[in-house]
Order: sequence, then structure tokens, then C-alpha cells
Amino acid sequence: MKNAIRYTIVPKDLAAHLFEVTVTVDAPDPAGQVFVLPAWIPGSYMIREFARNFVQIRAESNGKKISLKKRDKHTWVAAPSAHPVSLRYQVYSWDLSVRAAHLDQTNGFFNGSSVFLCVEGQLHVPHIVDIQRADDSACKSWRVATSLPELKAKRYGFGTYIAENYDALIDHPVEMGSFDMASFKAHGVAHDVVITGLVPNLDMERLCVDLKKICEAQIALFEPKSKRAPMDRYVFMTMAIGDGYGGLEHRASTALVCMRSDLPVKGQAGISEGYLKYLGLCSHEYFHTWNVKRIKPAAFAPYELRSEAYTPLLWLFEGFTSYYDDLMLVRCGLIDEAQYFKLVGQTISTVLRGTGRQKQSVAESSFDAWTKYYRQDENSPNAIVSYYTKGSLVGLALDLTIRSETKGKKSLDDVMRALWQRYGRDFYTTGKDAGKGVTEADVDALFDEISGLKLKRFLDQWVRGTDDLPLEQLLSGFAVAYADADKAAKPSLGVRTAREANESRLANVYEKGAAHKAGLSAGDILVALDEIRVSATNLDALLARYRIGDTVTLHAFRRDELMSFKVKLAAEDAPQVGLTVEAKPAAAVRLRKAWLAM
Ligand SMILES: [Zn+2]
Repeated sequence: MKNAIRYTIVPKDLAAHLFEVTVTVDAPDPAGQVFVLPAWIPGSYMIREFARNFVQIRAESNGKKISLKKRDKHTWVAAPSAHPVSLRYQVYSWDLSVRAAHLDQTNGFFNGSSVFLCVEGQLHVPHIVDIQRADDSACKSWRVATSLPELKAKRYGFGTYIAENYDALIDHPVEMGSFDMASFKAHGVAHDVVITGLVPNLDMERLCVDLKKICEAQIALFEPKSKRAPMDRYVFMTMAIGDGYGGLEHRASTALVCMRSDLPVKGQAGISEGYLKYLGLCSHEYFHTWNVKRIKPAAFAPYELRSEAYTPLLWLFEGFTSYYDDLMLVRCGLIDEAQYFKLVGQTISTVLRGTGRQKQSVAESSFDAWTKYYRQDENSPNAIVSYYTKGSLVGLALDLTIRSETKGKKSLDDVMRALWQRYGRDFYTTGKDAGKGVTEADVDALFDEISGLKLKRFLDQWVRGTDDLPLEQLLSGFAVAYADADKAAKPSLGVRTAREANESRLANVYEKGAAHKAGLSAGDILVALDEIRVSATNLDALLARYRIGDTVTLHAFRRDELMSFKVKLAAEDAPQVGLTVEAKPAAAVRLRKAWLAM
């Protein structure tokens, strides 16, 4: 293929965690070809400076070495040449997250944004990548899993793959190794499930059955008539390890990390907490196939990958995705109403935990994701709100408002479908809406248009303001009640602790809590409570012997200095919210059933 950008990638040295990559440009810029690596990966809003993992890089043209100048932390310029120009470089790949690249004897994984230099001026030509097998005997049985279309490769084999442009090239991560694999069809579209890591007695069959339910429910949500999925094929790739959790969405795949104990064991009945969490993660990333990979904020259409791309809308793209991830589990029958409302109660409790929610709106939280949400510190609960958790409750509140005001005729589902039809469906096509992103003003207008209501006031209060959401009142219209949490209130220090060897360190000190009022600080190491030693595990048991209003003496080390504090124990100011489902009134029960049904 003439004038395509051509790459090769090979696991060069497994023990040194090095991929070797080449990029070849047939028609380089006569003034000197510029190459750039992204500074961040879509879906994870933080500057990560992937180019810091480049170890060695050199350029050649017409069989000779040519000069290559570095312009800034992620940009190189090759000397002008009338012939094709190639760069060869090694990338240190030792990041077990879903955001970068990883290579050792157990597997190889990469996101294109970590390994493939972008050829400036030629983003829109086809990009071809030859994924080569390593010489190492450890890789003999390795296969390749990716949603990149094959050009000259068998499915799951090493060989040549093709992307229509650079944006697509870096949106199909690649897994290589001796993974477990199974497949299923959801509304006619092939879905592969790839599990890397040692997972004894993994129940792949059940995993496929459960994921199929989630996928079909989501496809039907966006395309109730045609049931047409937005991609030709989809790959769930999971790295199962001892401890870890995370996922990243892509247009036709997702890369996930979970604990191996989260995955189902053959013969296991019921749904464990870990498995529920894993299915929720799969549901979340799959929902992004529509919401953020195709329906996109204007700031991501197209992505600016050299520096921050600011949007006030992550509450919709991450928050609503979080609202729907669990909702789809109940709608497709994997969990029941009681399990669903337990999850909702946990989210409400999490949001009420931090006073940051009174200082930052979810629109501000979205905008500042780069420096705040993604770079949290000990003060974050007192300073910021999560556009994921509060965003999901905004989705819940808007859904319930629309459903009750329109007597069940309209819902948030209709708003999502309208977003899909106007912005998402044609995003990657050449149609008139190709590449079009959504603005804040578009979202405001769409809510009113689709619901037939005046919702701007709520968006001002809940999204751009810091008001708490009236969920207790809204849920009551669906025969769901807040359980009385006061009876369970226990004496509290108003802190979150972290284990450090056998010590208890204050990870967060919540503003206006008992410890804050007494002068304790995050980072303090608790030594004794009323002269009894505090260990990593006994703080709750020690506190249980007191009542709310009692004053205790706490000794703690700040740095290496022993300090003493008088702490008046208070009730936890954000107790766990429990939700209970009620059997009447009938009209409210009908609304609830319609909400939670497919
Ligand atoms: Zn997400």
C-alpha cells in the first residue's frame, strides 16, 4: 500500500521489558519529517509523557543514518530526505496498568499511544503495523488478541494489521501471550473474551453467558429496533493479577485489570462481590463504546494528545456511564432489585463522605480532571468531588425526574438515544455528522427537547452548582425508601486510615470531623488511644468501647515527634445510606418496574 505509514513492533528483550519499534514514512516532509508521541491516552485524563520510556532512537534514510533532532519532550525532527525515512527505537514497557505497555515472559501488551510515533502531516493515511513474534522460546505458544483489523495475518496470529488512520491505530490495544480465550455473539456480532494470567478453574462459559446478557442489553438500549452494534467485532481483554482493578475503553475493545479472585470459578453458584465488581467494570467499559468513543465531547473531536484537552462534560461521559453500568446489570437480570439498590446506596454514601462536593461542581471536576481527580492527595475528599460517583447520581436524579414528570413516557434512555443518533452513530463515517462533538449548550438543549421539560435549572444546580441531589424525595416516587441509618451511628474520628506495617496511618482527615477539630493531620501515625496501643487493625474495636460525645486522648507521631490530642468522638457525619424497596403505592411501583426493566 503506497504512502501508508508502516510500523513493525517486536518483543525484543522480554527480561529487559523492551519492545523494538520501527516507523517508516514513504513520503516524508521535504522540510524535515516531524514525529510526535502522545502525552496522554484517551480515557485517562492525565499527562503521562509516554516518551520518557523511549530508550534509544535513531533515523535512517536510503540505507544511511540521518540526523534526528529532539525538539521537546515528545517531538523529534528527522533531517530532510528525498527518500523514505525510518525511525527505529526501543520502548521500556514495564507498566502493568491498562494505560501504557507491558512486556515480560508472561505476556506482552501495548497501547499504540505508548509505542507508535505519530507522523505529523500524515495522520489521515492508512497505518499498517507488522506485529512480529519474538525469537525467545518463551513466546513459542503466543497468540495475538486485538480488535485491529488483519491485513496479512490469521485471526489471533502474528502478522500485519491495518488501521484507517493514526487515531484508529492507537485505539486498538494489543495483547500477546498464551492467554485463555472464548467467544460469543451478541446480536450477531462476535465478541472475544481474552484472559491473561494464571486463573485456575476459570469458568469461561459462565463469563461468556453473563457478558452476552450485558452486551445485548446495551446494544438494544441504543438501537432498540435494528439491534445493530456500533462495531463489527469486540474484544474484552483482561489481565488477572493478585491485586488490581481498572479498565480503559476503546472503540471496539477494552483492556481490563482485575483480581484473579474476582473471576468466576467452575461450579460456583451465585454472584460474588468480586465478580459483581468485575461485571460492573465490563459493563462500564462496554457502555463507553457508545458514550465517549462515538458520542464525544467537542474537546475530544478530534483528540489533542500533546497537551490537556479540557471539557466540562466528563460528568456525562464518565458519570452517566457509571450510572448505566450497574443499571444494565439489573435490567439484564444478572442482579435483582435489592442488589441494585445496595450498589446505589453505596454510591450515595461515597458522595456524601467528602465535603469537597460542597466546593467543586461536577462540571468543574470534569474540567480539572487533569490536575485534581487524576492527581489526588490526602486532601482530595475535602476539596474535590468525583465526576464518576456524583456524575452517576446526577444521571439517576435526571432519569427519575424525567420519568416521574412525564409519567413514565420519557426517560434518560431517550436522551442517550438522541445523543447517539445525532453525534455518535456517524462519528467514524464520512456522513454529515462525522467527527462532530457535543458541547455543553448542546446537552442543555437536548435534555429539554427530548424530555419536553425545563431541566436547565436542575443542570445549573446539580452539574454546575454544588447542591446535594434530592434523591430521597425522588426515589420515594419509585417506592424506594432511605433506611433509618441513625440507629447504627457509631462514634467516629472522621478519618480514613491506611495500614503501614502494623501501624495505622491517617490517610484522610475529613473536614469538620472529630480528628480535624482536635488538630490531627493526614500522615499522622496513631500510637495509642487512652493509653492502649493502636495497631493496624484494632482501631474500630477500640472505638467501639466508647459512645458519641466521649472525649479520648490520642497519641500520634507527626514525622518523628510524639503529639497528644484530646478528641471528642462524633457520629459519622456521612453514615452508610441503605435503600429499601417498598411494595406500594402501586403507581410508584409501576414506575420502578418500568425503570429497571429492559
Ligand atoms: Zn469510564
